[in-house]
Amino acid sequence: MTDSRPVRKKKARLLRREERRRSQPKPTPMKPPTPEVQAILTSWGWPPRIFAQKRQKTCGAKTRKGEPCKCLALANGRCKLHGGQSTGPKTEDGWSRTRAGYRAYVERRKAQAVSILTPRRARTGL
Ligand SMILES: [Zn+2]
Repeated sequence: MTDSRPVRKKKARLLRREERRRSQPKPTPMKPPTPEVQAILTSWGWPPRIFAQKRQKTCGAKTRKGEPCKCLALANGRCKLHGGQSTGPKTEDGWSRTRAGYRAYVERRKAQAVSILTPRRARTGL
């Protein structure tokens, strides 16, 4: 309605193309090779290893989009972004170091927040 002439022409062209595509018969899918042909192909080393490669497992964790993550999974079944790289500290000592590090991080962040939120005048006395 409000489309300009070139846009209308383009839409009409796309519609005609879609119509043509729909009117054409679908191509027949390729038939799998017969056992004899398959034997010959195998003797030639077909399929090459690159095609025969097993599809690697994906992570599958729920992403922020709500879809399963498509990254390749590491040994524990998750990708590097979803907990695949580390399974956390194993010993009590390790845990206490983790907590200490987190506490230090929180303190640093608090100090940063104070320095951002306080006016410069109040911090420096100028
Ligand atoms: Zn993932």
